[in-house]
Amino acid sequence: MMDNHLTALEVDSYLEKRGDEHDRAQVDAHLAACALCRGRVARERRVESALREMPRAGAPRDLSARITAAVELRVAAEQDRRKRLPLIAVATIFSVLLSVWFALEMVLAFQENGVLDFFALVTNQPEIFAGYSTDAVFALVESVPISEIAMTVFALLTVVVLAQQWADAALPNRSVSRNGR
Ligand SMILES: [Zn+2]
Repeated sequence: MMDNHLTALEVDSYLEKRGDEHDRAQVDAHLAACALCRGRVARERRVESALREMPRAGAPRDLSARITAAVELRVAAEQDRRKRLPLIAVATIFSVLLSVWFALEMVLAFQENGVLDFFALVTNQPEIFAGYSTDAVFALVESVPISEIAMTVFALLTVVVLAQQWADAALPNRSVSRNGR
């Protein structure tokens, strides 16, 4: 019966201690006589123990730890976002009010300096300035409230930046996908 070498199936069942006593005794007898099959069984045993040694249980543990870490990161980001949201909203509203204030200042300065009247005069009666056009241009430039315009523009830029931040915080999907985390 056991004249031939062990089959792979027989080696497996021998290593896994399946099969009855009779089979095992036969395999033992063959192994005692056959160095080739002893070698195969020893090799199989090494492979099996090596497979068992491999951190198979470690991979899922590490994976779950990483998933937990990722979830915690998400939760922390979410909490951070919720905390930031009111602050950004307040800052946005404040910067809008500031822009309105600067815009009003600008309009008042325009009126005070008579810039619009000046423009109207230049466009309606250009012949008045025909002789001394350079002076007229300088006077016009000087009458423009540069600083008020600059303040208004900066305030509006602040509004745009803050509104962008607010949109990022209010719509988490956008910022998350952008971060790629
Ligand atoms: Zn053999």
